[in-house]
Amino acid sequence: MKNEAKTQYLCHPRLRFVIMHELGIAQNIMEIVRQSVPEGLARDIRKIRVRVGQFAGVVPDSLDFCFGVMAGESEMPRAALLIEEVPTACRCRGCGREFEMEELVFLCPHCGGTDLEVISGKELEVVDIELVDHGGEAL
Ligand SMILES: [Zn+2]
Repeated sequence: MKNEAKTQYLCHPRLRFVIMHELGIAQNIMEIVRQSVPEGLARDIRKIRVRVGQFAGVVPDSLDFCFGVMAGESEMPRAALLIEEVPTACRCRGCGREFEMEELVFLCPHCGGTDLEVISGKELEVVDIELVDHGGEAL
């Protein structure tokens, strides 16, 4: 109990929130992997491909870091994330055109309208899981 107060301010509360956020997502990914891969094969997991939308509010580097730390202490110590970033696509309600957002600026490049609908870029999904094939080369 005495030691708790000392660790309380290790980092800025906002920073801690950000890290916790990606930690939670890393945990979710690990859960999905556990449900998809039979228990005995966990040690053979090498790469987990995930699609992360630019608009999903996830910092890929943080997610990668959090997952790496968690995986290292889990039953899948050699698992690593392969993060594919999905750009944000929008549809303008003003002129009806669709476009990809380079940066998160909510402005239609065609008509300058601001009434936009996000049609992709919120993805956060596990695409596939790569295991080592004992019979052949490790990929
Ligand atoms: Zn427009």
